[in-house]
Amino acid sequence: MAAAIAVESLIRPEVRALSAYHVADAVGYVKLDAMENPYTWPEAMTAEWLERLRSLPLNRYPDPSPAGLKTLLRDSNGVPPGMDLLLGNGSDEIIQMLLMAVAGPGVKVLAPEPTFVMYRQIASTLGLEFVGVPLAADFSMDMPAMAAAIAEHKPALVFLAYPNNPTGNLFERADVEAIVALTPGLVVVDEAYAPFAEASFMEDLPRHGNLLVMRTLSKLGLAGLRLGFLAGPPSWLHELDKVRMPYNINVLTQATVEFALERLPVFEEQTALLRQERAALFQALQSMPGITPFPSRANFILFRCEGVAAGDVFDGIKRGGVLIKNSSSAGGALSGCLRVTVGKPEENRRFISALEQAISGR
Ligand SMILES: *Cc1c(COP(=O)(O)O)cnc(C)c1O
Repeated sequence: MAAAIAVESLIRPEVRALSAYHVADAVGYVKLDAMENPYTWPEAMTAEWLERLRSLPLNRYPDPSPAGLKTLLRDSNGVPPGMDLLLGNGSDEIIQMLLMAVAGPGVKVLAPEPTFVMYRQIASTLGLEFVGVPLAADFSMDMPAMAAAIAEHKPALVFLAYPNNPTGNLFERADVEAIVALTPGLVVVDEAYAPFAEASFMEDLPRHGNLLVMRTLSKLGLAGLRLGFLAGPPSWLHELDKVRMPYNINVLTQATVEFALERLPVFEEQTALLRQERAALFQALQSMPGITPFPSRANFILFRCEGVAAGDVFDGIKRGGVLIKNSSSAGGALSGCLRVTVGKPEENRRFISALEQAISGR
């Protein structure tokens, strides 16, 4: 038998230093931890979809550049003429493609923090230096700090989640525009929560040579399919496309997304309901003693617990049968904070009563 190889001798230190993206086991809980759309499809629509799947050629490789699907995505997302699309196996894969395309010695990537953890996580696995610039205490952009960091580090890529995750707020449009103007590299505006935000930089694409807009179908209601896309100038996307695995969007995903986008009003109705529920949930949180919710333009709400340990509140809510996200464990600006995804009315009621119990019954 060959001698055992020491893990340290092979796996890069920056990879060993990471923890894998943690996904909690949600079996048996009301699941309000992952920004999923809680609604399913009307039965007749499911039957029609199954019929469509029947004829799919699963023995063949998928279309590496599905024109019909791209047209549907362009139309449903208002992608300006002249801009191209790059598809990813979730927007996570697009973040990875962007970072792989720029990775090299001394290359830096920058984002305000706290933000979506995958920017830092993927940058680290690729040996890129990640610069996190703290947001202001109210989670708005600290523009003097951002401007100074961009001037000092000259990032190849800046990620701006719009609205931001996990804080839920939209940055000021003028701040985003200033960052695009100041950055010597590319600025990726991550619009994962576009169905809930009622604000976008999509229309602005033609006015800036270094702006890219990323979206996903995950939060719209198709998280299980894994489809994200990047919109931007053809010259950039042409290069990024070389990093893409040729068959990254599988046959089932392509067919199902086409089917779904042909029925977009079903999803728009669901997301409109969730926006209404978000307002109701915010009010309920605001009226609770010791709880401060932060205004959200996404399908989740971050809230701070005062006078009670957030970890205990999280555990109490979980004992009440509801799984949310403990953002507090990240520390820093998020200490004392928990994040709840907006669910169906009855799920939100269960959450509120579990929260009441957790606060009062400790
Ligand atoms: C959820 C999320 C993503 C990831 O989306 P997928 O397409 O499911 O990979 C990207 N960015 C932000 C800010 C998110 O919250």
